[in-house]
Amino acid sequence: MNVSSLVQLADKRRLRRDEVTAREWHDWRWQLRNMLKSTQDFEQVIALSDEEREGLARTQDLFRTGATPYYASLMHPDRSDCPIRRQTLPSLQELSFRDQELRDPLGEDIHAPVPGIFHKYPDRCLLYVVDRCAIYCRHCNRRRIVGGDSPPTRDDLDQAIAYIQSETRIRDVLISGGDPLLLSTSRLDNILARLRAIEHVEIIRIGTRVPVVLPMRVDEELCQTLAKHHPVFVNTHFNHPVELTDESRRACQLLVNHGIPVGNQAVLLRGINSSVQCLRALMRGLIKTRVRPYYLFQGDTVLGTDHLRTSVESAIALADGLRGWMSSMAMPQLVIDAPGGGGKIPIGPQYLLELGESEVRLRNYRGQEVSYPQPLAKDPAVSFDEVFFAGVAPDDDREGCS
Ligand SMILES: *Cc1c(COP(=O)(O)O)cnc(C)c1O
Repeated sequence: MNVSSLVQLADKRRLRRDEVTAREWHDWRWQLRNMLKSTQDFEQVIALSDEEREGLARTQDLFRTGATPYYASLMHPDRSDCPIRRQTLPSLQELSFRDQELRDPLGEDIHAPVPGIFHKYPDRCLLYVVDRCAIYCRHCNRRRIVGGDSPPTRDDLDQAIAYIQSETRIRDVLISGGDPLLLSTSRLDNILARLRAIEHVEIIRIGTRVPVVLPMRVDEELCQTLAKHHPVFVNTHFNHPVELTDESRRACQLLVNHGIPVGNQAVLLRGINSSVQCLRALMRGLIKTRVRPYYLFQGDTVLGTDHLRTSVESAIALADGLRGWMSSMAMPQLVIDAPGGGGKIPIGPQYLLELGESEVRLRNYRGQEVSYPQPLAKDPAVSFDEVFFAGVAPDDDREGCS
């Protein structure tokens, strides 16, 4: 599918816009109240294919379907291979599970010391604050809990914050869900203030797809509230250049203008963004928006998503088509999030061909081989550490979690 013609189509804004006032359209709560969920909702916007109809009808009990009118307005009216449609509308293939597929592919539930905390790494943890999203992505790796009917309670949140308070190793709290930016601004303010009151919490991150699917939520008031609790970082989730509209770019830029660095965590999705041309356009479009590509995920082994995964060889070949061919500022790290909860593992093309004692053989992005001489000295470099870190307790980062 041609990326630039899709971008143009996206700008045209369909979706019977004349019937909604501009004021409603730009009201994020209106967007949430009017999310498209059913076959009837979607057929008002696009010509559903038979397969999409059947997917909508037969996957109802598996995982919620839903997208904001804004996001649906980016859908191609006729083509079911449209990347927005494929991220939103369930496929019948979700029904055929494989043994290797999991409800909880990242082993989060076995790394949950209290409800609402996933703690896998020594110095950082994930705080799960809400179970709702402004889109239910077909590749969602948290579909076992997101979009269900058991949102985290206030008591869960209290326990989770008490846990962070008691675990002095935690320096970095990643607020996620569901989508944390669906909480009211005052509720977010309250959570951020409680985290900020904990001395050992150094940075706070928010994981959200709101800039992509509900950009009207990102307003001056929200940005000022987040900025009160700096250092606050946002990681968002663009997967395709067609999502980089004037509105979504404005949302990201508003965050950045308030001193909130915005990163992007994309997921590699077969037939949706799995081409070098598409990924380059996405990464360049992001960096032009001042959004720094952070991760590119090889698909997780979530139940019902096998058809959305690329092979690992393809993922590596795609990464090889990015590195060196575009600004490294726009280069994400390709990772596999380990099944079972071992954390994110970088994968990628092999540039180091041979590691010799006196010489290293490498290849560059064009495949040209070079050699790099090792230094003569093999002992560790003399360091200033013993002076600078005198009396400072050593990092105890080998300690596991849960
Ligand atoms: C991804 C993740 C983090 C953050 O990992 P980074 O590599 O620092 O971005 C922290 N906790 C959990 C449970 C995660 O899944």
